[in-house]
Amino acid sequence: MLFVKKECVFVSFLLPPLRSKVKVCEQEPSRLLHDYHGLNGPGLTCYLNSVLQVLFMTEDFRGSIKRCCSKAPTAIDALLGKLFDDLERSLAWTHCIAKKLGITDVYEQRDAAEYFEKILCLTSPEASKIFKGELNHKTTCVTCEKRNDSRGFFWILPLAMGNSCRQTYSVTRGLKAFFKKEKVSGENRIYCSQCDEKQVTDIDCEMTQKPGILTLLLKRFTFDYKCQSYVKLQCEVDVPQTLHMENCKYDLYALVNHFGDLTGGHYTAEIKSFETGEWYCFNDDIVERVKQPLFGSGNTPVR
Ligand SMILES: [Zn+2]
Repeated sequence: MLFVKKECVFVSFLLPPLRSKVKVCEQEPSRLLHDYHGLNGPGLTCYLNSVLQVLFMTEDFRGSIKRCCSKAPTAIDALLGKLFDDLERSLAWTHCIAKKLGITDVYEQRDAAEYFEKILCLTSPEASKIFKGELNHKTTCVTCEKRNDSRGFFWILPLAMGNSCRQTYSVTRGLKAFFKKEKVSGENRIYCSQCDEKQVTDIDCEMTQKPGILTLLLKRFTFDYKCQSYVKLQCEVDVPQTLHMENCKYDLYALVNHFGDLTGGHYTAEIKSFETGEWYCFNDDIVERVKQPLFGSGNTPVR
């Protein structure tokens, strides 16, 4: 899931298929077929196609890549620049980028979020900074009140979905839970250097730098101790059109969907165009406009 700052933005991964889609290709071929183009990659690299389309459809990122194709040999900017040029004209090929990312087994299913991060790590800082945020993990000793800060940057906020198999998961509530203060005690007490022993500790996390584009990952794969294997949580999810964070507002503009299970599946992306204001579904080499609006009136979440 990707949200763009309104002033601030946001994005998401691993959402269930959205149901309210209507394919409109047959009815309006002239308009639809020329708005956007699909991607052709080696083997089954739909995870890469979905991520590349999100990057292409992110106005600021596309602009930065075009402006400052980095000369550093490790940077992927030049390849992305070429791909974006191709995509503006026709169906484009991703083989060079797949090679650059070291994808050798093109038939193995991979994680879209992982490749999103890999690409951003190889991109010049000028282009990738729009996705970059900073978190501060704070631990405070309850006894002596000594506080430790640990700051680190992030591309994606992973949201644990817990055991919400039976109920609908809310992204808004999940995000709140991510920043909720926790107290650890008992066996989980944390060593305090000032007290020189393990103490009951308050843990909390704050976003010290808000990214221009906020990317959220729903962790649908979870380890099931009963089955001793990973399972996919198939619950429904409410995704809001607008996310409010402190004094900042993010609007949803992209969703990367995963269908299937851990061993096999398919990725597609639904993205709102900054050029036409319409939503499109990107499914490898096929692009279709999503006719029915994803969101109703007001800020009704999409489920
Ligand atoms: Zn202490």
